[in-house]
Amino acid sequence: MAVFKPENVEDFYEIGEVLGSGHFAQVRKVHERATGTYWAGKFLKIRKNACSRLGLDRSRLEEEVDILHAIQHPNIVTLKDVFESRAEVVLVLELVTGGELFDFIAEKENLLESEAIEFMEQILKGLGFMHSKNIVHFDLKPENIMLSDRVAPHPNIKLIDFGLAHRFHPGEEYRSSSGTPQYIAPEVITSEPLSTAADMWSIGVITFILLSGLSPFQGDTDDETLRNIIVMNYEFAAQYFGMTSSMAKDFIQKLLVKDPSERMTAEECLLHPWIKPITRTQVAKRNRSSINMKSFKKFNARRKWKMSYNMVWMCNRLVRLNLLCKGRSEADPLERQCESDVEDGESKPASLLRRRLSSSS
Ligand code: ATP
Repeated sequence: MAVFKPENVEDFYEIGEVLGSGHFAQVRKVHERATGTYWAGKFLKIRKNACSRLGLDRSRLEEEVDILHAIQHPNIVTLKDVFESRAEVVLVLELVTGGELFDFIAEKENLLESEAIEFMEQILKGLGFMHSKNIVHFDLKPENIMLSDRVAPHPNIKLIDFGLAHRFHPGEEYRSSSGTPQYIAPEVITSEPLSTAADMWSIGVITFILLSGLSPFQGDTDDETLRNIIVMNYEFAAQYFGMTSSMAKDFIQKLLVKDPSERMTAEECLLHPWIKPITRTQVAKRNRSSINMKSFKKFNARRKWKMSYNMVWMCNRLVRLNLLCKGRSEADPLERQCESDVEDGESKPASLLRRRLSSSS
């Protein structure tokens, strides 16, 4: 069981700028007073009572912490420390400075499949390691795939955000309706028992987008997206996949499989010829094919726009809430807010309890 230190985090770390915000957390750069090292502090509000929808259950946080302790791997963000106060838990994490993989790629003029594969391989290695420990991420999406830094010629992938992750115990049947519509597997929507295969579906969706700039199941609404997933309504439209190798399409087809037991595992993916070519022809095919950069840049720009739109929407709600609870922010200048600070009056569709605003349609 992980130790949640009762000391005040600010006695050990100076709290710096905001690095990012999520549904349940605000992440800030923190400076370790004793060593001068920089880390990322993930500040999570704890739910005060069972009736409140503000914050997270402590048991959920314990699971996130236990999971992070169990998966120390070069392609997975490392947890250093955990602090707990009355109202919040702070995870002190390795500082990841390279930004999101998709943003890094979108800045390029062009990218060969073989170059994109270098990143895919690292994602699969991190995932394969987690899966070997019976841990499933359940929220794989571009926002949660970051790069260690931007200085290195070949930056390392770092998987982040284990807020929905689950460790399977032998014989356990686990169902969950959480996730982000565009990336979730059909069995999540239909409330079937879940497994590591759910992450592999998300890898199929991410690879599809990476190569074409098209999201395979995206509808005009979340409900339409979910319906498209259930009926497996996707195709490799020629105008988007003109530069894609047949091996890449085969790779995706073996992941976007409705029956989870028929989907490739992370280990099998690492042996697929698109990732690990055996013949010279296979190597040549990967070097001749490239990602659809024009379309990918458009996808990424739209994705970032939606993220900022949602952030503005969230801030407006916070302003409204603060007007209601007048003086609250003056009372605590260090108050840290995230989306979960807002009681959800405008109820979201019930079908997916933890839909992520950042990626919803
Ligand atoms: P979500 O709403 O997706 O569940 P969350 O509340 O669980 O999000 P995270 O996704 O873990 O929070 O973090 C929110 C953002 O903070 C990330 O998108 C990223 O930009 C930034 N971030 C998280 N961890 C780190 C880190 N270790 N180093 C640098 N930035 C980070």
